[in-house]
Amino acid sequence: MAKTYGFDTLQVHAGARPDPATGARQTPIYQTTAYVFRDADHAAALFNLQEVGYIYSRLTNPTVAALAERIATLEGGQGAVCCSSGHAAQIMALFPLMGPGRNIVVSTRLYGGTVTQFSQTIKRFGWSAKFVDTDDLAALEAAIDDDTRAIFCESIANPGGYVTDIPAVAKVADKAGLPLIVDNTSATPWLCRPLEQGATLVVHSTTKYLTGNGTVTGGAIVDSGKFDWSASGKFPSLSEPEPAYHGLKFHETFGPLAYTFHSIAIGLRDLGMTMNPQGAHYTLMGIETLSLRMERHVANAMKVAEWLEKDPRVDYVTYAGLPSSPYHDRAKRLYPKGAGALFTFAVKGGYEACVKLVDSLELFSHVANLGDTRSLIIHSASTTHRQLTEAQQKAAGAAPNVVRVSIGIEDADDIIADLDQALAKATA
Ligand SMILES: *Cc1c(COP(=O)(O)O)cnc(C)c1O
Repeated sequence: MAKTYGFDTLQVHAGARPDPATGARQTPIYQTTAYVFRDADHAAALFNLQEVGYIYSRLTNPTVAALAERIATLEGGQGAVCCSSGHAAQIMALFPLMGPGRNIVVSTRLYGGTVTQFSQTIKRFGWSAKFVDTDDLAALEAAIDDDTRAIFCESIANPGGYVTDIPAVAKVADKAGLPLIVDNTSATPWLCRPLEQGATLVVHSTTKYLTGNGTVTGGAIVDSGKFDWSASGKFPSLSEPEPAYHGLKFHETFGPLAYTFHSIAIGLRDLGMTMNPQGAHYTLMGIETLSLRMERHVANAMKVAEWLEKDPRVDYVTYAGLPSSPYHDRAKRLYPKGAGALFTFAVKGGYEACVKLVDSLELFSHVANLGDTRSLIIHSASTTHRQLTEAQQKAAGAAPNVVRVSIGIEDADDIIADLDQALAKATA
């Protein structure tokens, strides 16, 4: 698909073409585990990575491949791999880079589940994470050591109304010769294209806005294809001979597709965190309307945030789209189409009032999800962030007196009316 098409065209067409066997216009759900080889030579060439083709759906599947190509195109990357969830994508993204004793330097402002994954679970692989405030570029630089293999942050951070200065963080990563990985779940490529701002890899929870309808979990990793994996000797999985493929060197052999091919041929083959074709289908359906939905999400978020900020029952609103936000100027510069549709606000009355608010809403759903067409709310301190210490909660923008909303695409007036009646009950 030519790069000259605009975003709205690519979100409908990239990666898909009428089915060559039947002419089916919509991408079929290739509900198959395996693919028949033409002959023994064809099978051998596929297994040796000398020819690209379908072998077994743990590795590749045509429906999933159409989605991967579409996401890669929308992000402006060379290649992409889809995974079973956003969390799977994060492990898969780190897997080619890491080894026992290696670490990543990560933002303190991350999705609660990611904080847990990075501070607890990855230790079992012998990996570790150092959490730093990525606005403090000196601290970021100081946290990098000889065992660091990547920097990780979110573009629009969930949940705190924070936006990252990706070009500034990318500069630090470049100087250290490290890849920058950006979780672009909350922004989506319609609001932010991290690879254009200097990131090496983008990860997504496709569960959220890319699917947009709250039906399936999924994840993706997109590679810029621009990082030199051989320059430093720090990424032997990509630069050194791979014993499982007769000593093939991924970077030397596949160039800008090295990381993507490694993620399929080693990552999906051996970790098995594969997206299924039915899941890919739901995400392909959703992604066709991504820009239309995001435009409405952002417009509604702005209206609701402005209304809440003026309400005396609300202490403060953290939304980078508001002029009162310390990140307003940064958002205007780096996220000119809008600062997303996720933000938090503090309710007078603290923890108790927040719980009552959540229970009193009628249109909003109280769920541990975001990026649905429906308006969603969660009290992070008692749910998604309850595993964290209070200091970690505050650092992540999830203090006990704060609720997080994911503003949907309903009528803004209806969203506001629902908040109005629930705030009345919560602060009575
Ligand atoms: C939801 C989410 C994840 C995790 O994705 P799953 O699909 O739930 O595994 C990671 N990062 C962000 C920003 C998210 O919102």
